[in-house]
Amino acid sequence: MAKLVRKGYLLAPGPTPVPNEVSLEGARETIHHRTPQFKKIMDEAIEGTKYVFQTENDLFMLASTGTGAMEMAAANLVSADEKVVVISVGKFGERWEELCKVFGAKAITIRKEYGDYVSPEELDDVLKQNPDASVVFATLSETSTGTVMDIEGFSRVTQRHSVLLAVDCISGLVAQPMKTDEWGVDVVVAGSQKGFMLPPGLAYASFSSKALQKAEEVTTPRFYFNARAYKKDPAPWTPAVNLIYQQRAAVRLLKEEGIENVWARHEVLAEATQRGVAALNLELFSKRPGNVLTAVKVPEGVDGGKIVSIMRDEYGVTLAGGQGTMKGKIFRISHLGYVSGFDIVVAFTALEKVLRRLGHSVPYGAGGAAVMEFLEKEGY
Ligand SMILES: *Cc1c(COP(=O)(O)O)cnc(C)c1O
Repeated sequence: MAKLVRKGYLLAPGPTPVPNEVSLEGARETIHHRTPQFKKIMDEAIEGTKYVFQTENDLFMLASTGTGAMEMAAANLVSADEKVVVISVGKFGERWEELCKVFGAKAITIRKEYGDYVSPEELDDVLKQNPDASVVFATLSETSTGTVMDIEGFSRVTQRHSVLLAVDCISGLVAQPMKTDEWGVDVVVAGSQKGFMLPPGLAYASFSSKALQKAEEVTTPRFYFNARAYKKDPAPWTPAVNLIYQQRAAVRLLKEEGIENVWARHEVLAEATQRGVAALNLELFSKRPGNVLTAVKVPEGVDGGKIVSIMRDEYGVTLAGGQGTMKGKIFRISHLGYVSGFDIVVAFTALEKVLRRLGHSVPYGAGGAAVMEFLEKEGY
């Protein structure tokens, strides 16, 4: 076929597509950061981001990726030899574990198979057995498997045991209900290239007063990510000026729509995607799928790596494959951020094309039809 037009569809759980009006903000003149003009922009960006976090806690904006905000959480909450609990159901739970180890903490890990999840009752049991644990590290949306966990439930448990709760909401925020203050979550971290619809390079961490108190007490060496430095001055070093313009623009869009509506929109897209998967007789991978992405088992006899590479390289549709031990076994369709129902239809159409090429016969249009019928029923 002649190569006429090659359009790109970014349906991976980060980086996600950036709306034009957010991209254009990034092209505005770079101004000096120690000026009243920039301070106003930064203040507005932080205020808007607090709205998305649903918090009045201090919120620090970092020139780093999401992992930097995770490092900030660990460095400011744990000292060497301190006992902590890590909830790990995939690659990003493992990252909490690695970070805690780097800072010398004794991490008790509640580990589940990929695809599975941890319940608040299980956390309660582990905290009963470990009354000397001081912090719990959890993940709202485990991006490697598409699993969402009950942070509200975890928070009830950690409050009962008087331990701090730090949650990686890097992919979950914006897509998944997350009520930092109402639920009483001490530290929440997120990153720009996921639900916020920005390019990579910004990360955010909210700290409750209890978490800031802990940051005063821990003995872990830290400099760039020292919470006390950010508490004193929200821009202790040069902030990512142009990304902060973009952050302000993106949170304005989210506030205009209303965060509950944003969550509901993601929920509808997630369910539409699940309908599409079922219509192709494919199986979901996660036992507790959420609004961020849908992980799908690669059908028997099909090369999973090829599904992802052919869709991307020949048809311009970028999904995510499986990471680590999941390589070739699953693929992940993201519906996070600036994604419309039609994007999901395109993803299914391209998937049908590639499955047929790989010898797995599926009818054309089945996935997209299921998506459209569901969206219509939901009034979209
Ligand atoms: C993407 C992601 C990260 C890592 O973020 P980076 O920006 O790549 O550092 C951590 N946790 C979760 C849940 C993620 O989705």
